[in-house]
Parts: sequence; structure tokens; C-alpha cells
Amino acid sequence: MGIIQPAARLRPRAEPSEPAEAGALTVDLSAIAHNWRTLAGLAGRAECGAVVKADAYGLGLPPVMRALLTAGCRTFFVANIIEGEAARTLSPEATIYVLDGIAPGLAHRLVDANLTPALGSLSEIDEWAAMGRALGRKLEAALHFDTGMNRLGVPISEAAEAALRARDIAPTLVMSHFVSSQLPDAPRNARQIEAFLDARARFAEVPASMANSSGVFLPQRPHFDLIRPGYALYGGNPTPYAESPMRRVARLHARILSTREIEAGARVGYDGLWTATRPSRIATLGVGYADGVPIAATALEGKPGGEALVGGARCPFVGRVSMDYTMLDVTDAPREAAQRGEWAELLGDSISVEELAARAGVIGYEILTRLGGRYARRYIGA
Ligand SMILES: *Cc1c(COP(=O)(O)O)cnc(C)c1O
Repeated sequence: MGIIQPAARLRPRAEPSEPAEAGALTVDLSAIAHNWRTLAGLAGRAECGAVVKADAYGLGLPPVMRALLTAGCRTFFVANIIEGEAARTLSPEATIYVLDGIAPGLAHRLVDANLTPALGSLSEIDEWAAMGRALGRKLEAALHFDTGMNRLGVPISEAAEAALRARDIAPTLVMSHFVSSQLPDAPRNARQIEAFLDARARFAEVPASMANSSGVFLPQRPHFDLIRPGYALYGGNPTPYAESPMRRVARLHARILSTREIEAGARVGYDGLWTATRPSRIATLGVGYADGVPIAATALEGKPGGEALVGGARCPFVGRVSMDYTMLDVTDAPREAAQRGEWAELLGDSISVEELAARAGVIGYEILTRLGGRYARRYIGA
């Protein structure tokens, strides 16, 4: 007691591979390639593209896009010009669609990076046509039709006018987006397909695309000429009504920074939201909401929160998730695993992205895209 030992005497030195970061994200690139091939197989004669917006759903655009290129993917979708420019540096040849369309006055940036906008309004068609006239050629574009989302896209009522104005551009795709493709019984899916067929009829020679990840699995199989999966590539379940047909991609581990024994009646974390009902062992993980652990995964009275795996045992979050820390009740975990310096699993084989999302009342897409910038990132299976 009272004698301070050098840390190296108490614990063996960390493995050389041990990250200094308190959180570690492992991305399985071979699982992404496998998922792409699975979807391409389901698409039959239709081409399988890949949506890589938002930094490939938070998993890292460069390694993910390289893995998809190696798997054979040739058509990519990003949200905006900045993402498109980043994608272009990774492939001089790929077709890269920009889903946002043209921001006013920025058509030249799309031309410079050879990006293909998804035009979602008559004024965007006009702007792209004008840029083409200035360059002396018809510029390629996707025409995005709104069949019910009321978000982006030319309204179906303007399809005739769009077809007229599109004579001054070179459409390479007509597309629309589902509102509820994760609900196979939703009647609006069929209504959207019908509306899309109507618009598409005006562009006889142009390839068509409707299906996001869940759309691929709809009973109507609306694959058309090109499918546009994102979430399913990254291990998300495109069929939430059934077991996932996709392979898990992301694994997330957090280091245990500290452990302590507390008495029954003691409280944990900001505002003391959790009270121990028995003598308990508490472990503090070095990741929090700044790393994308949802604060809404906090356990409250009568509402379970998130869980992490420690030595094979499921351990509940206790107390409020804070910026840099998440506390676990590790009383029932194997003692040797519930130790300072050991790692807890937050996402992996037994805890899916959907499970963590459900425990926080959000969706898996949000979990992936909010994975923070402080993780040690490891790419395997390249
Ligand atoms: C994001 C997006 C997709 C991909 O959707 P997932 O559900 O992730 O497969 C496809 N198309 C459009 C227009 C999108 O915005």
C-alpha cells in the first residue's frame, strides 16, 4: 500500500498491434465484396452498383471503394460533389453519380471531375444542358423522378416536360427511390413502381434504376437495369422482417479504462440515472457519444439500454452515456475479462448494428454513419 509500482512491472507491455486509441473499428473488406457479389447475383441481368455516400456509410471511402472495384463494381453513387471528387481520385474510369444533383453554379465542378449528376428538377436539366452547349457536347446525366418521397426528383407530373428538355442532354439513367422498401407489404411500393414505369416509358432506350438495398428484395423484384444498394453492402440487414442475408462487416471494440466495485444503492454516471441493486462491478469503456455510441442507448428505469460483450458475457450499459465514456455492469462477466486494459465488443458477431440501433431507438444506418473519427481503424480481408 502506498508504494507506486512502475506500470510495466504490473502488466506486460501492450502488444505491438495494440492501438493507442480507446476504440477499435475493424472493417471486413472481403465481407463487403461478398455482399456485393450476393446482391449482384440476386440482380440477375441487372447491373449491381454501389452507394458509397457519407464516406461509405462511415466505414471509409478509399478502402471500401477499392474493394468494390476489385469485386467488379463499375457504377458508384455519392451524395455530393465533394464526395464525388474523392471517389474520382480512386477510379479514373468508374461511373460516379452525384445524388444531390447540381448545386447552382457548380456544374463546372461536376464536369471537371467527370461526375454524372442525378438531375432532380427542370432547372437542373436546363443548367446541365446550358453547360453542355458551352462545351459543345451533350452531357451525361441521370434523371431522378419523384414517385412519392417528396424529397428530390422531378415530379411525375413534369415528366413530359423533362423529356422535352432532356433532348439537350444525354440521359444515361432514369431513376427513382422507394419510400418504404423495407416494408414488403406496403401498398405504396407498387404505386411507386407504377408511377416510375410511366415516367420511364418516355425514355425508351435509357437504363432504369429503382432498388436500394431493401428494394432488391421486394416481391416485385424491381431491379430494372441497375440496382443501387448501400446499407446491405456494409452488413446492414435489408430484410428487417427476416434474418439478414448479408455478412457482418463492422466490428467495434472499446478498451476498459477502469473498473470499480460499488455498493448496492450507489449510483453511476451523470445525474445518477442508474442505481445498483446489488454490490456491483462497474467497467468504464473509453468510448462515448462523441464516438457514435448513441446517448439514447442509456439505460433508464424501465427501459433497457445498450449492451456490450465482455469475456463472452452480455453486460448492460449503466448510467448515462457520456462524451468519452460508457459504463457497463460487468458483475456477471468473467473476472479476467472485466479488467482494465481488456476490450469489450460493442458491435460484432453477436451484437448487430440493428441491435444497437434498436436499443437506442434509431436505425442501423445512423449507427454506421455516426461512427466517430477517434477509432483505430483496421481493414481486413483486402
Ligand atoms: C442512399 C440511397 C440509396 C442506397 O440506399 P440503401 O438503403 O442504403 O441501400 C439508393 N438510392 C438513393 C437515391 C439513395 O439516396
